[in-house]
Amino acid sequence: MIVEVGPRDGLQNESKIMSTDDKVKLIHDLVDAGVQHVEVGSFVRADLVPTMADTAEVVKRLTRKPGVRYTALVPNPKGMDAAIQSGMTSVAVFTAASETFNQKNIRMSVGDSLAKIQDVIKMAAPHQIDVRGYLSTCWHCPYEGAIKPERVVALAAELIKMGCWEVSLGDTIGHATPDEVRGLLVILLKTISADRIAVHFHDTNGRALENIRVAQSLGITTIDSAVGGLGGCPFAPGAKGNVATESVVEMLDNNGVATGIALQKLLPIANWMRQWRTS
Ligand code: MG
Repeated sequence: MIVEVGPRDGLQNESKIMSTDDKVKLIHDLVDAGVQHVEVGSFVRADLVPTMADTAEVVKRLTRKPGVRYTALVPNPKGMDAAIQSGMTSVAVFTAASETFNQKNIRMSVGDSLAKIQDVIKMAAPHQIDVRGYLSTCWHCPYEGAIKPERVVALAAELIKMGCWEVSLGDTIGHATPDEVRGLLVILLKTISADRIAVHFHDTNGRALENIRVAQSLGITTIDSAVGGLGGCPFAPGAKGNVATESVVEMLDNNGVATGIALQKLLPIANWMRQWRTS
């Protein structure tokens, strides 16, 4: 399963702002290409994240295809309120394995962000809203350097215990090596089932595909990616974009792993995104 994060994680971290019309078309085109889980936006403060200011309008205009999961990021109960108002059935929450990164990213300690996540999960339950957890800087932090695997395992377990159905492990600055990916996952999968874990690689050092293959070899089948390699992270110096969905699909096609996504429909969308970014 590929989780297409371009319309949210990708566009949120681009310097240009995409029009609402284009965002809606992008999401519809991705679903038409066969994407079954797509991140559509972020219910955050418009003054802090202007690229996502129109998420409620984007969601309102979507024609939702049955069986496809549409997820929005929510940072706190206020965002969760907006997600509920918009009729979301799936949201994502986030924290980081690095204390310094979390402080710089959302001006909050990891402990405080977990408390906010717990509040969001409590609000989700009566509405049958699924909550996905993001854990950033699982291998390297731009400020703290290498992150201890034990810390990542403990936080991933905590997110699952709190009610996240899936936890996505992020290599936020794209510095993880295949050996480091294996090192963490081997420890983590001793206590957490592979079907609760996704991987979220950035291609900064060109290792994302190799890292995905390592994760797959250990039984992880959910991969985050962004069409056209959209995005990066404004709070992580040196971070390049997410691994490109079309590269992941091509690799999986070559390896005989079914994704349900048609490459011939995905490539024009990727070209559109690359042109949009440079136009
Ligand atoms: Mg990302």
